[in-house]
Amino acid sequence: MLGSNVPAHPGRGGLATLFRYADEWHCECAQTYITLSRRWRVTDLLPEEISGFRSAWRKSQVKQVIAHVPLLVNLASPTSDTWQKSKDRLSAELARARTLGIEFLVLHPGYYRNLNKTAAIKRIVGTLNSVLENVNDAKATILLETTAGQGTAIGSRFEEIAYILENVRNKESVGVCFDTCHVFAAGYEVRGYRGYEKIWKEFDSIVGLDKLRAIHLNDSKTELGSRVDRHALIGKGKLGLQFFHALMRDPRFRDTPKVLEIPAQDGEKIRQQLDHLRKLQATSQSLSEPKGISAQLRLHEMSSNSSNC
Ligand SMILES: [Zn+2]
Repeated sequence: MLGSNVPAHPGRGGLATLFRYADEWHCECAQTYITLSRRWRVTDLLPEEISGFRSAWRKSQVKQVIAHVPLLVNLASPTSDTWQKSKDRLSAELARARTLGIEFLVLHPGYYRNLNKTAAIKRIVGTLNSVLENVNDAKATILLETTAGQGTAIGSRFEEIAYILENVRNKESVGVCFDTCHVFAAGYEVRGYRGYEKIWKEFDSIVGLDKLRAIHLNDSKTELGSRVDRHALIGKGKLGLQFFHALMRDPRFRDTPKVLEIPAQDGEKIRQQLDHLRKLQATSQSLSEPKGISAQLRLHEMSSNSSNC
C-alpha cells in the first residue's frame, strides 16, 4: 500500500482536506498531523469536523490513515513540565485518533537530553504504560519510529526499540514504523539487494517483522552512519534504487502502509515520486547501481569482511 505525507489543517477545521490531496495523488494511505504540530494546546473537535472527516474518508480511495505525533512530544524528557505535557498530549492524540477512526499513531520514542540513555528508555516504557493504562479503550496502535540517532534521539538501534516493545505491558498497542532514511543514517547498511535482505533479517531477529506496521519511504541526503536526519527524494540521495526496488516488490510488505515523507507543500514532486515508486514496483528485472554507490558498497563489504576475521 503506497501513499504520502499529506497536509491537513487541524486548527482550522480542515482535517478532511487530507483526502483531497491524497486522492489527487492516488494515495492508498496517508499520513498527517491530527493536532497542531507546533502547539501544546489541543482544542476539541467540533461534531461536524468529525462527521466531515469520516464522510470524506468513506468517499476517498485512502484505506489507511496514519497520524504522526508532533515532535514536541518527548516521553523521555527530564523536565517534569515537558514530560507531563508530552504524556497528556499522547493521551489526547490517542483519543482523537479513536474519534476519527485512525488506527496508527507514529511516535518518535524520545530524546534523553542530559539523562542517562538507559534511564531515559525506561522512562519511555513507564510513560507508555501509564498512558495506555488510562486509555484502555484506545483503538490506535502507537508505532515507535526508528530514528537516525541525531543528537540524543532514542530509537536508532533496533535493540532500543525492541527493549521498549518487550517491556510495555499492553503489547498489542505498540508496534514499529521503519524509516528507511533514518535506519541508514543510524549506520545500518541497507544499500543494494544484499543490504536489503540483510537489514530485514536483522530487524526480524531483534525486533520481529510481526511488529512492523508502517514504513516511511525516504532517501537520505547524508552518509551511512552520519546520524543526521535529512530526507532526500527517492533516487536523489545516498541509498540507491536497488533498496527501494526490492522494497516496493517485496510481497511481505504489500499491505504495509508505505509513506513517502517529503515536504507536503510540493504536490507536483510528491506525484512524480509516487509515480517513480509505482514504476519500480512494476519493474521485474534487477537494476544496476550507479558507479559511486557500487564502489562504496564494495568498500563497506571489504571492511566488514576484514573485521569479521
Ligand atoms: Zn519518518
